[in-house]
Amino acid sequence: MPIYPPRPDPFECAICGKAHPLQWQDPTQTDYPPVCWACEQYGWRLGPITRKPDMRLAKQIAALSEALSEEASRKIYEEARHG
Ligand SMILES: [Zn+2]
Repeated sequence: MPIYPPRPDPFECAICGKAHPLQWQDPTQTDYPPVCWACEQYGWRLGPITRKPDMRLAKQIAALSEALSEEASRKIYEEARHG
């Protein structure tokens, strides 16, 4: 039986902005601040679902960089359209 990290203090996900952790949470899916489990694992389909802590960190970094680049492209597009 692996030992899971304790529940984190409340935080808002850096990507979706929702409050976490949820009331009830599967201990295998504990949120790692600042990104929630859902954004980390499902947000950008960056490979298979994983519960390994080091893989999760890698996915968090990838999800954050995808979120940033998406936001940046959207801003550039809007500026190009509206001046
Ligand atoms: Zn999130």
